Amino acid sequence: ATPTALMVGTGRGAQLGILIKGPEVLETTRKIDTIVLDKTGTVTTGRMALLAVHTADDTGEDEVLRLAGALEHSSEHPVARAVASGAAARVGALPAPEDFANIAGLGVTGVVEGHAVLVGREKLLAERAVLLPGDLRRAKAEAEAAGRTAIAVAWDGEARAVLEVADAVKETSPEAVGRLRALGLTPILLTGDNRAVAEAVAAEVGIAPQYVIAEVMPQDKVDAVKRLQEEGRSVAMVGDGVNDAAALAQADLGLAMGTGADAAIEAGDLTLVRGDLNAAADAIRLSRRTLGTIR
Ligand code: ADP
Ligand code: MG
Repeated sequence: ATPTALMVGTGRGAQLGILIKGPEVLETTRKIDTIVLDKTGTVTTGRMALLAVHTADDTGEDEVLRLAGALEHSSEHPVARAVASGAAARVGALPAPEDFANIAGLGVTGVVEGHAVLVGREKLLAERAVLLPGDLRRAKAEAEAAGRTAIAVAWDGEARAVLEVADAVKETSPEAVGRLRALGLTPILLTGDNRAVAEAVAAEVGIAPQYVIAEVMPQDKVDAVKRLQEEGRSVAMVGDGVNDAAALAQADLGLAMGTGADAAIEAGDLTLVRGDLNAAADAIRLSRRTLGTIR
């Protein structure tokens, strides 16, 4: 394509809410055959809500919410925001934690009111030799079968509760996934979340279970992209989180949600300003048009 055509394409992109880092990006865009979609904040709104609290025997809900809410108040993760605001709505002011630590892809830890508290995936507890008792294990399985994320709460070495949080698929996501497929791309859902939850979200947007890569640690998202590239695919990745930045850089084409973290936007080749996945389909069409493959 001529430099003029590329400049016109870039300008047209801006009108469509697609910010393109450089004219050469349009050339890469045209060659993409696989598009990896992050779940939370990309396919879903990322605005999660706390929907239910299941406690172990002898544990009060208010205490669970106070201790878990206190820790999550210090984290920016969508799950953490849901837990902290749900807790504050129920129990009021939350105490300040000490020794707070955010463990990417797993959860948070810290000391609240003298208790050593863990909030996050079952794996976070298991790594510290804390097991979920049968009733909480059942609550977790039921929540996940319903497509909700189950968050475990433990303190002083004992599992105390399972919290159910969920967010909604963006209204625009099912249509956008359909358009991407119609353009000849293979959509793949990639997430750190539980497989059952991931498959429920995938089903809502029309992605089959064999195209779901779940329970992936943030640092392993890069490897998931690399493996697809090793299969000979030309891979685009769409993401919104700090966790997605390395995978966005590794992908042949990185598309960042404009509504997401600065680190993701910096790592991407394209920014989808409105956070609507349809703009990814628009970008592919635009590149093919600009480079003369279609009219
Ligand atoms: P995603 O890939 O869906 O954007 P992440 O990799 O950020 O998600 O997190 C993976 C999983 O780890 C979440 O679904 C959640 O179960 C758990 N998790 C991460 N951060 C937190 C937190 N602050 N509190 C509780 N759970 C968390
Ligand atoms: Mg995300």
